[in-house]
Parts: sequence; structure tokens; C-alpha cells
Amino acid sequence: TNYQASNQRYDTMTYKRSGKSGVLLPAISLGLWHNFGFVDNLQNGRDIIRCAFDLGITHLDLANNYGPPYGSAEENFGTIFKKDFKPYRDELFIATKAGYDMWPGPYGDLGSRKYLISSLDQSLKRMGLDYVDVFYHHRPDPDTPLEETMGALADIVRQGKALYVGISNYDPEGTQKAAEILKSLNVPFILHQARYSMFDRWVEDGLLDTLEQNGVGCIAFSPLAQGMLTEKYLKGIPEGSRASKDHFLNADTVNTHIGKIQHLNAIAQERGQKLSQMAIAWILRQPQVASVLVGASSPNQLKENIKAVDNLDFSEDELKLINGIIS
Ligand code: NDP
Repeated sequence: TNYQASNQRYDTMTYKRSGKSGVLLPAISLGLWHNFGFVDNLQNGRDIIRCAFDLGITHLDLANNYGPPYGSAEENFGTIFKKDFKPYRDELFIATKAGYDMWPGPYGDLGSRKYLISSLDQSLKRMGLDYVDVFYHHRPDPDTPLEETMGALADIVRQGKALYVGISNYDPEGTQKAAEILKSLNVPFILHQARYSMFDRWVEDGLLDTLEQNGVGCIAFSPLAQGMLTEKYLKGIPEGSRASKDHFLNADTVNTHIGKIQHLNAIAQERGQKLSQMAIAWILRQPQVASVLVGASSPNQLKENIKAVDNLDFSEDELKLINGIIS
């Protein structure tokens, strides 16, 4: 069936500026790490992206190796894009990345110019796009000179294959150096993608300050700690959940967090909010955060999560209570 985007798609979403750039991102963005591979149901993925766009989620986040298998999330996205979203290309802000293991041999991993440029060429083919809106180096490579990696990002922009660049998982020092090199090359460096949730606050220890000083926005990944900061695991580990089937999240991790999850859930209830919504709002309280990058295995999860924007305010007492539970 033909897809016609909702006329109300821009009515409820909040958009936030990414650092000191011209780019506005939806407060909540959608990531395609899980649920979009060849192992997953394509129609479900298509329903999730339609739902996202209808709710004002203009920003979609991919990477070369999302799937499984590697590359399949981009290929499935390409199929969905061609069927549903071609007319909306200029309303979408699409990201991909390279930096982790992608293909065999010495040129399919880490941070060489050789890897980054060929990987983006492959990604564009899989997605059926002429360019991406932002291209990231996915993780720091301690053995490649940063000048080479940043130089590759600069050339990718000059070649018109990406409009903006970003980095991910860099520590504050590496981020500062990258920012200086990219500035000297006149490259629009607009985003740092970092893990940030109530259960992982490392960005508060210097990174957010570094980003602010350099006019770069933060986009927070795994804001729900892969589903732990939702009601999903309150009564055990349901069949089909990420913790039941995926090696990135396991039962032990859920079990060590369950006490905190229950306490946080009680606070969310008092705020008249779902735990997932409170977890997202709590990240959005940081002015440096341009967007919170959620995953979803169904349209309904996304509909629930997006209502976070209805209550973004925290009292000092609430913040103290939350701090007491998570620190
Ligand atoms: P989240 O912390 O948002 O976890 C998403 C998962 O939580 C869903 O797939 C679902 O899992 C569960 N969930 C979400 N909403 C609900 C809900 N309302 N009720 C119950 N369960 C819910 O984020 P991800 O870990 O998926 O990461 C998000 C994105 O961030 C990725 O897609 C990717 O784009 C990016 N990312 C980037 C990384 C990097 O190195 N730069 C690393 C990791 C992620 P279930 O299957 O159990 O239903």
C-alpha cells in the first residue's frame, strides 16, 4: 500500500539545535541497530519507520554493520526508503557510520582513510542514497593518526557524500583533538554520539563540557539501557525481549539492575509518566543533548517513548531522589 505521511507530523515533536550548527534534530530520534536486519521482519521495520516519521522523527541513525548480518539494516532501509520515503528525502536527516568490524582483512575495521571512504561508498549503494546527512567515525582508533581519520571525513564532505560529520565513543581528550583538526579543515562537525542513560553517566564527566566548548551537539544512544529503563523487565525476562535473545544485553545485567528499575518506576508513576518517558526526559534535561536516540521493536514502543516530550521538567527533589537511586 502506498504511504502518505501524516499531515500532523510536525505538530507535536520538539526540535533542538545540534550545538552551534544550523541543524535542528527531533528531541527523539530512531536508531536501526536492532530490528532492521535480514533476521527481522521487514514489514515490522517498515511500520516502525512510518510511525516514526508520522510523529515528527526526521532523524534516522544507521551504521555499516547494523543487522545482522552486517549491512542488512542499510539494505532493508534502502528498500523501505525506495517504497515509502523517496518523496520525503529532504525532510529526512539520515546518518551512517564506519569504525567497527565490517569486512575481512586489514581494510574493513577501525579508522583508516581506506576503510572510511570505501565503507561509505558501500553504505550509499545499500541505502540507494546519493549522500547521507551525517557520517560518523564510529569509535576511536588508537593506532591511526587522528589527522588521517579526520582528513577522510573532510574529503567525504568535499565529495558531497555527507553534509556533516560526527564522531562516536571518543573520550573528551580525543574529542577535543578531533574538533581542532576538523575546525582547521573547515568541516562541519555537529554531533558526538555517546552512550548515555541513568545507568551510564560517563558523558557527565567532561564530555558534555568539551562538546559545549566546541559547539558540538550530543546525541545519546541506548537511553533506555537497551530496554531496562522501561516496564519490560519488571516481572522477569519476557520471551522475545532483547535480554532473552541478544548477547548485547543478558539476564545477569537485568537482574543486577532490577532493584533500581523498580524504584525508578515508582518515581515515574508519581510523575504521571512511564519509566521509559522519564528516562528519556532525564537525558533531555542536559542542554548539550540535541537528541535522544531510541530503539524500538514495535510502533507502539515508539508511540509510548515519544510522549516523553509531554513532561520534560524535573523538580530539584525529583532529581535528588533519582540521583540517590542511580549513584
Ligand atoms: P534503547 O536503550 O532505546 O533500547 C531500545 C530497546 O528497548 C528496544 O529495541 C526494545 O527492545 C526496548 N524498548 C524500547 N522502548 C520500549 C518500551 N516502551 N517498552 C518496552 N521496551 C522498550 O536503545 P538501543 O540500545 O536500541 O540504541 C538506540 C540506537 O542508538 C541504536 O539503534 C543505534 O542507532 C544507536 N547506537 C549507537 C551506538 C554507537 O556506538 N554509536 C551503540 C549502540 C546504539 P525489545 O527488543 O526488548 O523490545
